[in-house]
This record gives sequence, C-alpha cells and structure tokens, in this order.
Amino acid sequence: MFESLSDRLHDVFKQLRGHGRLTEENIQEALREVRMALLEADVNFKVAKEFVATVAEKAIGQEVVGSLAPGQQVVKVVHDQLVELLGGQTATLDLSGRQPVVIMMVGLQGSGKTTTSGKLAKMLQGKGRKPYLVPADVYRPAAIEQLTILGQSLGVGVHPSATDQDPVAICRQAVHAAQSGGYDTLIIDTAGRLHVDQELMAELGRIKDAVQPAEILFVADAMTGQDAVTVAEKFNLDLAISGVILTKMDGDARGGAALSIKKVTQRPIKFVGMGEGLDALEPFHPDRVASRILGMGDVLTLIEKAEAVVDKDKAEKLAKKLKKEGFSLEDFLEQIQQIKKMGSLEQIMGMIPGMSRLKQLKDMPKPDEKELGRVEAIINSMTIKERRNHAILNANRRTRIAKGSGTTVQDVNKVIKSYTDMLKMMKQMSGKPGGLGAFVGGA
Ligand code: GDP
Repeated sequence: MFESLSDRLHDVFKQLRGHGRLTEENIQEALREVRMALLEADVNFKVAKEFVATVAEKAIGQEVVGSLAPGQQVVKVVHDQLVELLGGQTATLDLSGRQPVVIMMVGLQGSGKTTTSGKLAKMLQGKGRKPYLVPADVYRPAAIEQLTILGQSLGVGVHPSATDQDPVAICRQAVHAAQSGGYDTLIIDTAGRLHVDQELMAELGRIKDAVQPAEILFVADAMTGQDAVTVAEKFNLDLAISGVILTKMDGDARGGAALSIKKVTQRPIKFVGMGEGLDALEPFHPDRVASRILGMGDVLTLIEKAEAVVDKDKAEKLAKKLKKEGFSLEDFLEQIQQIKKMGSLEQIMGMIPGMSRLKQLKDMPKPDEKELGRVEAIINSMTIKERRNHAILNANRRTRIAKGSGTTVQDVNKVIKSYTDMLKMMKQMSGKPGGLGAFVGGA
C-alpha cells in the first residue's frame, strides 16, 4: 500500500533537496511531479489538482523558518496537506447516544462488510462493550451463517435472523432482543449488491429510520480505487454515512481511495482492514499514514503494537530478574517470542523510518520468519543448565543441540553469538539508571 506513491514522492523531494535555494520554478516543477504521482496512485483528478494548488500557495513565498532547509520545508507543507487530505484528526466512533447504540454496516457485496462486522465486534468487546451481531442480509443465505459462525468464534451474541423475514423487522426485533439480553451495541450487517441499487438503498433507508443508528459505516474495498469513492458518494447522498472503513489495505492497492474518499464525501475514514483475521482492524491515523507515505516511518504505530503485545507483568519481572541474575538464553528466547507476536518482520521493518526504502535494496537480506523459528528450536534443544549458563556450551554440546533442533553447528554458533552480542550491549546499558529497565519494560 502507498509504496509506489511513496517511492515517487521520495524521488521528487530528493531532487528538491539538491537545490540550495528554491525558486518558484523549482517548486512548481516538483509539484507537477507530485500531481503526476498522485494521479498514478489513482487519486481523484480534482482532489489531486486542488492538493497541489494548496501546497503551491503555502510553499511558495513562505519565509524560511528555523533550521529547516528549503527542500525540507516543502516536504513539511506536503506532509501537513496530506494529513489534511486523509482527514486531519483520527476519527473515532460515537457510541455515546441512547443505549443500546446501533452501528449499521453498509456497502457493496464483497467489500468485506461481514468480516468487518466481526472485527468490529471483537474490537468493541476488547474495550469492554457487549456487542450483538445482527445479520440483516436475507438475500444471500450464506451471509447469515457466515456472521453466526464469526459471532460464535468470538463468543459474541448473534441475532437469530431467518431468510424469510423482512430485514427492517429483523433489525427492530434485534433492538428489543439486545435490550432484554443486556447488550449495549448492535452491529447490523446489511445486504450488499454488486452495484449501487435503488431498491437496496430504499431498504437501507427504512432500516435507518426504524433503528436510528448512531453510526452508519460505509465499508469499501481499497483495491477498487476510485470506484470505492464514487460508491461512497452515492451511499452518503442517500444515507448520510458517518464514516468509512477501508478494507484490504494489506493488499497492493495504490492508495487512491484512502487519499480521496474524505475530501469527496466529507466523511472520515474511521478504520482500515489489514487482513482477513479478526484482529486485523486498525484505527486510521491520518498523521501516521502521511508520515509513512513520505518515508518518515510510522514509529508510533510500531510502539503501540509493541505495547499491546509485550506483557507488562512479564517485562517488569524480567527487568527485576535481569538486575539480579543477568540475561540468560531463556530470557533471549522469551524476547524472540514477544517479537514474533508483533506481526511479520517485514511489516515491522516498514514502520521504521528509512527502512521502507532500505528494504528495497537488492542486497539487503529479506527478513526471515523461519530464522526466528530456528532460533527458538535451537534454544529449546538446550538443557535448562545450558540456557542459564552459556559458558558450558562446548563443541560436544553444540553438536548435540544442532542435531536436536534439526539445524547445523554453524546455526547454533550464530545464535550463541547474537546472544552474547546482546549480552554485551545490555551490560553497557545497565550502568545507566533506568537504561535496561526502560528497555525491557517498554515504558
Ligand atoms: P461482504 O460481502 O461485504 O460481507 O464481504 P466479506 O466480509 O464476505 O469479505 C469478502 C472477502 O474479503 C472475504 O474473503 C474476506 O476474507 C476478505 N476480506 C475482508 N476484509 C479484508 C481485509 O482487510 N484484508 C484482506 N486481505 N481480505 C479481506
């Protein structure tokens, strides 16, 4: 996602930075390139044109401020405008109204509505709410079953809809069922069609009138680019949507939908789908996405991920133990397991500033998920004594470990070397107050 746009912009700004002083001509030329890059990313024509005009207005004739070089200053203006284009502030759900609140999921067939309903239920459950899933697509029999299975796997209540019922009646009944069942949030998975269809719009309008949703979330497949934007406009016109969820952002969509939909519909992107799994729903942070597009990395998302995964209790215990007993191979293993939980190495690397670019250098080895698995297997093949005292790992023991883990002695040596390197690094850090504790505590 955004990769080729990011590369194009990187080239444009590199050229710009090459000039000591920027003339209006330099900037105009760069902005022509920016406009081309946006259009190639499938950004709406009008949106791209307006974007460049605004940047030009702000970048040309501005005073050179502070320590920023002229080129950097243009990048900053582009960054700020990108944040604006993506929606400015991070948009959240408003679930403060009359309880139980209703969230209505709308969108075309195949956009990811049903999956996203499940993801949203999981996310809200994690925030302490009690969601109730309501299948209201009576035209596609499998739709009800799909949502019911999702609900069961999450341990979330699912309304027992039937295909011979009227969708408006289903939704009305579901509100009553939620009230008596102690649920506080209904998530209605409505029917979709392949194209915008007046009959369907009328039905969605009737559901809206009947249940007064607090949120109407338009779900769109990011891979469909400008089509998603056009359809969003239509849904917004008929239903006044409250926000957008873009799915399949993990794919190689060029990013045009994400960059145009807010400007065109005046409705914010509230979440993005990053995969098929039920965990793969993330809030949409315009500032972080803009930074990522401009190759500034996405350190905040990375830190949040790390914080979500690292078990705080464990980390604190480890910090205490390290102060007393030092860092053993067992601790090393635990760290690796924590890293593995954070997601694929490639995803993590893409969030580190500069790494997204480095990643593409051909001579850079691809991060290897298997490698982590190998390290785990090797440490697992050691005895407890060996794990706690690596000094006893002589040649015989290393051969045995290699056999036991299905690796080679070289692999074993490599693991021990990375461990001892880390040990050295930690020794250097531990002299400083809070150094090591802060590192492992993630605080
Ligand atoms: P619906 O017809 O709108 O209810 O769409 P579904 O929820 O059935 O989703 C259609 C397909 O898209 C399914 O195969 C989903 O697994 C897939 N899907 C949904 N969201 C995402 C996402 O964020 N990323 C990826 N890769 N696939 C997704």
